Amino acid sequence: MTKTKKKIGKLQIAVLIRTILPVLIMCIIILISVTVRVRKSLENEVNRSLEAVAESVSLAYNEMFPGDYVLVGDKVVSLYKGDKELTGDHLYLDTIKAYSGMDITLFYKDARILTTLLDAEGVRYVGSGVHASIIGEMERKREPVFFKTEIGAKQYYYACYVPLINSDDSLIGMIGTAYTAKYVRAAQNSAMMPIVIIAILGLVAASVISIRYTNTIVSAVESIHTFLSKMISGQLSNDMPHEVMVRDDEIGAMGESIMRMQNAVRILVECDPLTTLYNRRCGDAKMKAIQKKSLESGLPFCVAIGDIDFFKKVNDTYGHDAGDLVLKHVAGELKDLMAGRGHAVRWGGEEFLLIFEDMRLIPAAASLETLLDKIKAAHINYGAQDIRVTMTIGLVEGSPEKTLEDMVKEADEKLYFGKQNGRNQLVVTPGEPEPSYRLLLVEEMEIKRADTVITFSDDLMDSQNLMELFSDNALKDIENGSDFVEKNTKNGEEENDE
Ligand code: GH3
Ligand code: MG
Ligand code: MG
Repeated sequence: MTKTKKKIGKLQIAVLIRTILPVLIMCIIILISVTVRVRKSLENEVNRSLEAVAESVSLAYNEMFPGDYVLVGDKVVSLYKGDKELTGDHLYLDTIKAYSGMDITLFYKDARILTTLLDAEGVRYVGSGVHASIIGEMERKREPVFFKTEIGAKQYYYACYVPLINSDDSLIGMIGTAYTAKYVRAAQNSAMMPIVIIAILGLVAASVISIRYTNTIVSAVESIHTFLSKMISGQLSNDMPHEVMVRDDEIGAMGESIMRMQNAVRILVECDPLTTLYNRRCGDAKMKAIQKKSLESGLPFCVAIGDIDFFKKVNDTYGHDAGDLVLKHVAGELKDLMAGRGHAVRWGGEEFLLIFEDMRLIPAAASLETLLDKIKAAHINYGAQDIRVTMTIGLVEGSPEKTLEDMVKEADEKLYFGKQNGRNQLVVTPGEPEPSYRLLLVEEMEIKRADTVITFSDDLMDSQNLMELFSDNALKDIENGSDFVEKNTKNGEEENDE
């Protein structure tokens, strides 16, 4: 059992890996490629804004203070734009920072003259310089350049530098604009967030659907496995669970095939192929089950063994195939007789065991009398041949004190007695004359209806009529206490009148 569960677990994991893993890999690939694209486009966007603001500041200085940038002084220097001294006047740049969120710096050559950048103590980075590579790049290109740069202690920035060029075409300085890397990353993350959430939700949805679906498959496979395990252990009357039978896929089809296989196996295991009656092994099991039920419920049961008389002669006279035909005919009669009464079993060769369930001796004997009459009256046609056979039967009433073996042995002894004493007969009380059990049964019915005075009609007593009247249905009627007696008798008053 533990082994079974382990196998099912493996199957489930295998299916889940094959369904969820591709979705997971797809999600990761989508996320990576979207992240790269979003970062790139956001960086471009950031660079465009940085350049636009730097150019605007440069133009604004040109508009507000016409003239060239000039550095005046020796030790203490002042930067002028036209007539306007810029040194120390941070108001304009601070205002732009307040609106744009970016830091702005005005460089003379590589030195910061005006800046919104503050150090940890809140002091402006005035006087500090930029990396030599920036100035080098600027001198070469003389157009906006973009850098990811470190300013101060471990403060990283996305920065843009636009050149400041005087009227003599000399590169005098730069306007630098910068966003902190943290700010850019936060913008990137917030742009990515909806995509990540959608990807995670998609993955969860795919996983839930996949797990639920694989659960139904695994559960159906598990049911089929349990069904087959029961079959292997010898149980051949199992019902395939509903969850398998309702499936219209390959698993449902497999369930149906296994059900058909169970029926085929049951017939192979339980039935005799020639007569289709239960075989001896199955008959044994049925007998045990009926005895057990009888012990629990107190309901009566009977066991009979019948053997075809002089069957060897049939084989010798008409051939083995004719013998088979006779066996099939007799088996058919036995099957009909036992339908609703119990079971007919091919006990061996031309010998049959009959188990009457929930039935007393007299009705069982009465039905066997009718059976013997029917077998005797039958004309079994084998080609042009008309074959007639008779049967001898020994009947025993079930008892809690007797073992099944004892009962079968007793029935066999009665059969043997019948064989020794003329065959073609039912033996219930060997050594004593057998009564007509059909009449006994009718008399029982009479007693049960003691308040009504009834006697048998004369023609009923004729043996041919008795045989017809005690047909299968009639016997069942009697056993069930129907109005059979009334139909076939006339009451005492009428008889007296005649
Ligand atoms: P009795 O009245 O004493 O029972 O005589 P019997 O000839 O019926 O009994 P016996 O035991 O002498 O012969 C039984 C025969 O049944 C012998 C055997 O060849 C035949 N037989 C057993 N099984 C089959 C079968 O499946 N098909 C055919 N055709 N014959 C079978
Ligand atoms: Mg025989
Ligand atoms: Mg025999």
